[in-house]
Amino acid sequence: MAESVTNWAGNITYAAGELHRPRTVEALRALVAGSRRVRALGSGHSFNEIAEAGADGVLLSLDALPPRIDVDTTARTVRVGGGVRYAKLAREVHRQGPALANMASLPHISVAGSVATGTHGSGVGNGPLASSVRAVELVTADGSAVTLARGDERFGGAVTSLGALGVVTALTLDLEPAFEVEQRVFTGMPLDGLDEATFEKVMPAAYSVSLFTDWRAPGLRQVWVKRRTDQPLPDFPWAPAATEKMHPVPGMPAVNCTEQFGVPGPWHERLPRFRAEFTPSSGAELQSEYLMPRGSAVGVLRALDGIREGVAPVLQTCEVRAVAADDQWLSPSYGRDTVAVHFTWVEDTRTVLPVVTRVEEALAPFGARPHWGKVFTTPAAELHSRYPCLHDFRALVRDLDPEGKFTNAFVRDVLGD
Ligand SMILES: Cc1cc2nc3c(=O)[nH]c(=O)nc-3n(C[C@H](O)[C@H](O)[C@H](O)COP(=O)(O)OP(=O)(O)OC[C@H]3O[C@@H](n4cnc5c(N)ncnc54)[C@H](O)[C@@H]3O)c2cc1C
Repeated sequence: MAESVTNWAGNITYAAGELHRPRTVEALRALVAGSRRVRALGSGHSFNEIAEAGADGVLLSLDALPPRIDVDTTARTVRVGGGVRYAKLAREVHRQGPALANMASLPHISVAGSVATGTHGSGVGNGPLASSVRAVELVTADGSAVTLARGDERFGGAVTSLGALGVVTALTLDLEPAFEVEQRVFTGMPLDGLDEATFEKVMPAAYSVSLFTDWRAPGLRQVWVKRRTDQPLPDFPWAPAATEKMHPVPGMPAVNCTEQFGVPGPWHERLPRFRAEFTPSSGAELQSEYLMPRGSAVGVLRALDGIREGVAPVLQTCEVRAVAADDQWLSPSYGRDTVAVHFTWVEDTRTVLPVVTRVEEALAPFGARPHWGKVFTTPAAELHSRYPCLHDFRALVRDLDPEGKFTNAFVRDVLGD
C-alpha cells in the first residue's frame, strides 16, 4: 500500500495517497494531460485542504524537477523553478549580488505555493510575496504551456491563484539591489495607550515590524523591528529593549531564530523569523490568520483583547503584521493596506476549531479575509462579498480550465460553484 502523504503539520492526510514526482517538464505535461484531476503540492506548509487532489486525483510535486534559479543581474530578475523553496532561492540570489524585497517568517516554504496563497512578511511598504512576481509559467489542463505576465489583463488572477489555473513550472521575480538588515526585539507594550495614531507610528518605524502576544495578559509581549541599515535608526519609545535573545513562542529556544541585538547581516538572514539551517519546530501546531484594513488595527486588537480568555488556552503565539495593498484579485491584501493578525495554535484541531470560529465572529465586522493556507471556518458565502474581483477570477478559471481539472472542493467553495 502506498505511504500516506500528509502536510507539514500532519493535520491533513491527502486522499490521493501517492505523490507523483515528474523529473522533466515534458513528463509533467504528459501526466497533467492524461489525468482527470490534478493538484500541485508545494512544500506542504498549508494547514487546510487547499492542495487536496481527492481520491481519484493526481497529487504532484515538482521537487524532482531540476531546481532552476536563473538570476539576471542586468534586468534585476530571477526565473525560478516551480518546486524551489525560498531558502535555496535566497542563498543563490544573494550569492549573485541582488536581493528579494521581503520574505515570510519561514524560509523553508516553496515560492510557487507561497505566492499561490497570498503569503506575506511584514512592512507597511511591503506587499505580499506575490507582488514581486512579474511572470508565471503554467502547464494547463491539456498539457500546454501558458505564460501570464504583468501587463496581461489576466495577470490579476495569475499569481495568487490557489493552484486553480494549472501547475506553475516557473516564476519570474523582481530583484532589488542588495541590502543589509539589523533586528531588535522590544518587550512589553501596553494596549491601553495604543491608539490609531500610535499604531501608525509603530508599524512604519522600520522596514518590517511585527507585534507578538499570547493574550494571557492584556497588552503586547514583544515587538520585532527589522531595520534596513541604509535607513535611519528608528526611535522606539513605546517599549523597552529585550535583554536576552527572544523566540516569539514563550519557552521555545531562541537559537532557531534569526540574529537579534542589532547585528547587521544580509537581507535573507534577517527578514525571516527562523534561520534557514534550523527546522523551527516539529510541526506541532496549527495556524490561522486574518487580514483586515490597516486603519482598523486598534479596533481589531481591542476586539481580540475582549475574547482573550477564550483564545489564550489554545494559543502558542499571535503575531500582528502590516502588508501593503496589492492587486492580485484573490490576495487577502487586495486593494487595501492591511493589518494581518496571525495565530499559532496548539496542534489539537478539536479544541482549536471552536476558538477559530469565535475569533472570526469577533473579526467579521472588520471584513476579515482569512489566509488561504491556514485554518479557517468562515462560510464561503461570506468570503465572496470580501473579494470584489472574484467574478474575474472565476472567468479566468473557466477560460483556462473549462473542465475543472485543477478544481477541488476548497476551490469550488471559493468560486461559489
Ligand atoms: C511554520 C510556518 C510559517 C509560516 N509563515 C508564514 C508567514 O510568515 N506568512 C504567511 O503569509 N504565511 C506563512 N505560512 C503559511 C505558508 O506560507 C503557506 O501555507 C504557503 O502556501 C506554503 O507554501 P507551500 O509550498 O508549502 O504550499 P502548499 O501547502 O504545498 O500548497 C499551497 C497551495 O499552493 C498550490 N501550489 C503549490 N505549488 C504549486 C505549483 N507549483 N503550481 C500550482 N500550484 C501550486 C497548491 O496546490 C495549494 O493550493 C507559514 C506556514 C508555516 C507552516
